[in-house]
Amino acid sequence: MSAEIVKKKLILSFSPELAELPITYHLVKDFDLVVNILRAQISPEKEGRLMLELEGEKGKLERGISYLQSNKIRVDSLEKELFHDKELCVNCGLCVGVCASRALVLDENDELKFIKEKCVMCGICVKVCPRRAFKIEL
Ligand code: SF4
Ligand code: SF4
Repeated sequence: MSAEIVKKKLILSFSPELAELPITYHLVKDFDLVVNILRAQISPEKEGRLMLELEGEKGKLERGISYLQSNKIRVDSLEKELFHDKELCVNCGLCVGVCASRALVLDENDELKFIKEKCVMCGICVKVCPRRAFKIEL
């Protein structure tokens, strides 16, 4: 079975003294990742910021991110994520009917279950929920 290939858009933030660290070199050589730099903002006196897209085997990509973090580089995801606040949800099921991806289902206890992997971030559930239980965040 071949390894799962994933892509992630990230923002790396690091202190000026780390500006010399050959980040992309290590990501390519040590973790076998394809690195696509989308934007770079590095000045000698200020915090450096690098927006990039990484592509590679899931495990290697995760190890690459751990490598960055172990070097005191802050890694933020640029991907949007849907958050479901269970505290606000009253399990009315309204959102289930509008989710074409079937990422929202009522389970055997009539509780809403969010299946993250199926979500395509269309945002429709955010609009229909009367309790504002969904939030899309970066
Ligand atoms: S519409 Fe809102 S309150 Fe109703 S089940 Fe969905 S998330 Fe919960
Ligand atoms: S954002 Fe769209 S796909 Fe994701 S759970 Fe909500 S309705 Fe379903």
